[in-house]
This record gives sequence, C-alpha cells and structure tokens, in this order.
Amino acid sequence: MNLFAKVPRMKSITQNSTPSKILSGKVVTLLFYEPSSRTFASFAAAVKRLGGQTLEIIDPTNFSSVSKGESFEDTINTFEAYSDMIILRHPQKGASENASLQAMVPIINAGDGIGEHPTQALLDLYTIYEQYGRLENLTGVLTGDILNGRTIHSLIRGLSLFKNNTLYLLSPRELKLSDADRKEFIKRNISIIEIHKESDIPQNADFWYWTRVQKERFITNQEYEKVKNKFILSRDLVDKYAGKDTIFMHPLPRVGEIMPEVDLDPRAYYLRNQIRNGMYVRMALLALVLGGIK
Ligand code: ASP
Repeated sequence: MNLFAKVPRMKSITQNSTPSKILSGKVVTLLFYEPSSRTFASFAAAVKRLGGQTLEIIDPTNFSSVSKGESFEDTINTFEAYSDMIILRHPQKGASENASLQAMVPIINAGDGIGEHPTQALLDLYTIYEQYGRLENLTGVLTGDILNGRTIHSLIRGLSLFKNNTLYLLSPRELKLSDADRKEFIKRNISIIEIHKESDIPQNADFWYWTRVQKERFITNQEYEKVKNKFILSRDLVDKYAGKDTIFMHPLPRVGEIMPEVDLDPRAYYLRNQIRNGMYVRMALLALVLGGIK
C-alpha cells in the first residue's frame, strides 16, 4: 500500500513532464533473455522519467558473451559491476531468485518462465484498487493459460494477501493449475474455483483477467493449436455474464482471445489504464527500492 500511495506522484511527474532527480546518478540494467514489449519499455521509460539511465541488454543468448558460453552467474556478476540494479527476464523459473543469491545489487524479477511476474501483479492489483478502492471482498474470473501463465500465478498470490477474495479460473482442462500450484494456493487465504466452460462464469464479477495461451511453453505447435483460443472475450460473452462495473483486463499481448469489438467498451481497461499503470507502478517501485523515497 505504501507503493500504491506513491503512484499519483509518479503519474504527475509523467503527465507534467517534470524533470525528476529521484534516480539521478543511478544506472539500471535491463537484462532480457526473453521477448518483451511492455515490461521492457515501461521499465526503461520509468528509469528515464525518474532521471536515471539504463543499460539495455536484449537477447543476451545471441548478442552477448552468453553466446560464447558464459555462465548465468558470470553474466550477473558482470552487470552488477556496471549498474545499481538488474531487472531480469529469463525463461527459467527461479532464475531471478538465483540471481539475487548471486548479486549484491537488487534484482527485480521481470518474468521467470512459467513462474512469476511480480511487477505485472503489482500493476494489475493497482488497476483493480484504483477501480474499487479495495483489494478485498472481490470476485474475479481469470481465463486462459492457468498452467503456464506467470501473470496469473502472481496475481493469485497478490490477491491472496487480502481478505475474502474469490477467483474463478476458467481454462481448458489441459491448462488448469498444476498440482503443485493448486496445493500451494489452497494453503493461502483465497478461494479458488476451477471451471472449464463459459456457462460457469459467475454473473457480475468485479474483474475479468483474460490471458493468451503461452505458445512458447508448448513442445509442438500441434499441442498449442489444440488448446488455443477456447475462450474468447466477445461482445456476446460480455452481454451474458459481465456486470455494469466489471472491468476487463489482460496483461497483453493478446493473440485472438479478445475480439476487437470489445475494445471501445468503457469497461475494457487492457488498452488504457492497465498499460499506463504499468509504468507508474514500476516508477514507484524504483523510487522506493533505488531512489531512497520512503
Ligand atoms: N506479457 C506477459 C508476460 O510476460 C503476458 C504474456 O506474455 O502472455 O508474462
């Protein structure tokens, strides 16, 4: 909540183009082993808007000494020598945790394989909080790749920190929660209901969180094709199950699971508040962790 309290200041720095010195003198490495649009660009913009500088290492597997066989540990040691923080995206679950054991500078997990995407969860939580003024007593529908979707895993974790939340997880059976995740979430303070058909979507949920099926996690294209786009957010679905205040979210990119006909609906937040909040929330995080803001 301390982080959320800083977001309006970050919004105002951005909207008024106020030169900020919060990260002046700081260099932040963006080390991205996997593709990214929003996480990469919003972090880079966030550092710059706060007066810091970035070292941007994209696809190190092909364009750095990693291609010569350098170990992950050596790469982390190298970039920590040049910068004050490393923002890391990596295909392996647990990579950021490993890096944090290795490095003295702060490591921010910008997505670790099918594991977690904690800063996405922060911006998602903020978007819900901005709408409802609370993060408890909420009902949400999370749809798509529940098995592999790291944004889903992190959002469930985030919402489990607050009281009385109920999440419906809508997916093809092949993409339901893993047994390990289910066991872990059951221990947490959250009610989870797994559903596999549209007709089980509850009426008037507070938010819908749609996701794409994570093509890059499938071994064959055939397996992916079998399960992709089973649930499509369309005008028809909205008319059947959404309430007048239900907000529609998506971490993006979308690849066919939301029909463009929904985009102009005022409840569609995925191309509006949710994207903008990504940068504001990341600015607030950087200001707290690196900028000495209390
Ligand atoms: N951009 C999000 C992520 O990196 C969601 C996605 O790729 O589907 O996890």
